[in-house]
Amino acid sequence: MGGSEAFEGFPKALFKERRRRVLEELGSGAMVLPAAPILHRTGDSELRYRADSELFYLTGFTEPEAVLVLRGFADEDRSVLFVRPRDDKAERWTGSRVGPERVPSLYGVDSARMFAQLGDCLPALLAGADRVFFRIGRDGAAERGVVQALEAARTKGQREGTGPRTVVDPGEILDELRLRKDAKEIAAMRAAASVTAAAVREGIDRVGPGIGEWEVEAEVEAGFRRRGASGPAFPTIVGSGPNACTLHYVLNSRRMEAGDLVLIDAGAERRMYSGDISRTVPVSGRFSSEQADVYRVVEEARTRAVAAVAPGVPFEKVHRAALGALVEGLIELGVLAGDSQSLIEKKAQEPYFPHRTSHWLGLDTHDVGSYAKDGVSRSLEPGMVLTVEPGLYFPGLTPGSKPGSKKGSPFAGIGIRIEDDVLVTEGGREVLTAELPTGPDEISALVGAIRTPKGRKR
Ligand code: ZN
Repeated sequence: MGGSEAFEGFPKALFKERRRRVLEELGSGAMVLPAAPILHRTGDSELRYRADSELFYLTGFTEPEAVLVLRGFADEDRSVLFVRPRDDKAERWTGSRVGPERVPSLYGVDSARMFAQLGDCLPALLAGADRVFFRIGRDGAAERGVVQALEAARTKGQREGTGPRTVVDPGEILDELRLRKDAKEIAAMRAAASVTAAAVREGIDRVGPGIGEWEVEAEVEAGFRRRGASGPAFPTIVGSGPNACTLHYVLNSRRMEAGDLVLIDAGAERRMYSGDISRTVPVSGRFSSEQADVYRVVEEARTRAVAAVAPGVPFEKVHRAALGALVEGLIELGVLAGDSQSLIEKKAQEPYFPHRTSHWLGLDTHDVGSYAKDGVSRSLEPGMVLTVEPGLYFPGLTPGSKPGSKKGSPFAGIGIRIEDDVLVTEGGREVLTAELPTGPDEISALVGAIRTPKGRKR
């Protein structure tokens, strides 16, 4: 962390500017943002701490037990950060703390206080606000302070005419800001996408008959860590054979078999930002003709949906582009019959394509920001980042039987998803994950393509 940087790659001034914009929007209101809780996996064994996205967005501060208070109505202490005190003994166990003394200079907030003083200070800090932006039900300590301020406003405010009477979700202000990525965020997202692409490429190299899905997972996640990512942004999916049709399959406990497809959906979190890539490859390096037919349909849907991304285009149009290609493809494959428009109206594709084409991507893998307002799809703008991830799934393969067997659909057991991360630019779009190919020949050529020093044999 450099002197002017509050977080790797993010200068202190950037967070200050974000707070300035929020303070402006707050007007006579206040905002209270607690840190994410420390989570336990079992007993007292803690999961690695992941800072809250909103608190990070406005401070760059990543320690637990912290609360940011922004006071749009105030002349002084407009930004106050409550943090844990320095504590040699505790720091020996859980690592160093910044401490309130150094917080104002390192993070550029107006003042810092001890986290333990939150309860005493919060009602007074909020007394002059007319409303508080705070998310109910997440953080007990901060919530008690907010509730006290509301109670005080109801009793004293009756005579004095001051104090908060309304609680609003902070996302009302922050979601719109976070949706449009600035240059530093785009740089972080490029890095996350690039790390993800390189690691998934290594995962694909590990694919082969007899190899466990877990080995591919290990390769992908090792690739994340080797490249400085903090780890997976979400549980890595490695679904082979029938598992490819389970959308959130994360057990990764099956051995891949020759003739299977394997679907990998993974994302690195690097400098707090998420990548998100899906690729589907044939386990033995060659698609069967049925698999290739379905793959071409999904790839066409991806191509058309990516091409639809441009400023001014409604978000929904990207989904429509994918949907058109998928339904046309399903007709060609003989899975659906009829005219594509009326099939789409009837949602005839839903058994094979049950999810949407895109989600926002950023600090959260499923990032914040509305997709529509009052029922009208929002227009894309430069700086927005979305995934494009069409898929087709034909579940219903009984264990032991093979895709293409006489029983049921010739496509039974095939599950294919292809996912890229796409930045909306002034001129159209930039595919952040383009370094990992999607074409059927290019992607299947990657299966077992990187020769390890030991010359791994299949
Ligand atoms: Zn995704």
